[in-house]
Amino acid sequence: MTKRALVTGAGGFIGHHLVKYLVEKGYWVRGVDIKHPEYEESDSHEFEILDLRRFDNCLIATRGIDEVYHLAADMGGIGYITAFHAEIARNSAMINIHMLEASRINAVERFIFSSSACVYPQYLQKSPDVTNLKEEDAYPAEPEEGYGTEKLFMESLCKYFYEDYGLETRIVRFHNVYGPLGTYEGGKEKAPAAICRKVALAPDGGEIEVWGDGEQTRSFMYIDDCVEGIYRIMHSDHPGPLNLGTDELVTINGLVDMISEIAGKRLTKRHDLTKPQGVRGRNSDNTRLRQVLGWEPRISLREGLEPTYRWIEAELRKSGRGVETVAGTLS
Ligand code: NAD
Repeated sequence: MTKRALVTGAGGFIGHHLVKYLVEKGYWVRGVDIKHPEYEESDSHEFEILDLRRFDNCLIATRGIDEVYHLAADMGGIGYITAFHAEIARNSAMINIHMLEASRINAVERFIFSSSACVYPQYLQKSPDVTNLKEEDAYPAEPEEGYGTEKLFMESLCKYFYEDYGLETRIVRFHNVYGPLGTYEGGKEKAPAAICRKVALAPDGGEIEVWGDGEQTRSFMYIDDCVEGIYRIMHSDHPGPLNLGTDELVTINGLVDMISEIAGKRLTKRHDLTKPQGVRGRNSDNTRLRQVLGWEPRISLREGLEPTYRWIEAELRKSGRGVETVAGTLS
């Protein structure tokens, strides 16, 4: 029989791509969000606009569903998650607790929770020259305030529902996901999309602003690896948290250089030290992921940035913005 999947946050970046992936796999898919996808229509069989902070809406969303892919959250890039601790933690806690309980009541088979590398302790991320983070490093805890604290609590709640009610919960800790159809302006965008936008709008030989001194390090995972990883983790027999990311470490300055090279532009970086830069360095240890799945993300940063940059450049051009190419301004 056709499996019925619910994707919450289906109007968002990862959720939108995941809907497409599941439909291609033969699932019947219901997408739920408080908004429609921004850049193209959802492929879901049913799309419902519901505020999942409300328990009654979570019951509606989970009716008749076999597998819940729970991605809805109040989230954004480092500027956003640094500025709104109370709002983010309150909204996501309400969504998460209600979604988990509604999934239990409606007897779904499996539930996957999208956690984050922001659960890892700040004290392990003070140097750009990082030690890769293993799943057990999350404790003793000192997560990112607000956003990370809430994710860490929800991870425990998933574990309790697994242990006490037998709900097959899975937990995935994403490390910075990027790709086409991700938010690239407005304050909720993450570093790769923000830098692609700045590079696209800058003239060759010009200057772009970089947050912090640019020596902070991260790893970035392309969206196609992300959705495949979610699906594989959902169907694994591992209920504990799993990192999902690449371990290709790059400085933000290195990321800017890679994107400038894709654009064919020579740009000067203007570092703004007053802007939030998050932890100093972070990378994923994929040992357990490899053990559990026999698989890990494989798309290199250079490979994934190419379509991401081209998509953002095309979007800016469509919206009539002054995209600068090496040949001159196009808008
Ligand atoms: P996103 O912001 O694009 O998607 C989240 C979606 O949740 C949005 O469309 C939003 O409208 C929806 N939402 C928010 N409040 C809601 C509500 N009250 N009711 C219903 N829907 C609501 O973010 P994303 O990048 O697609 O992230 C998906 C999940 O992955 C989130 O849980 C996020 O915390 C997690 N995550 C993402 C990354 C990343 O790099 N993108 C990294 C770590 C963790």
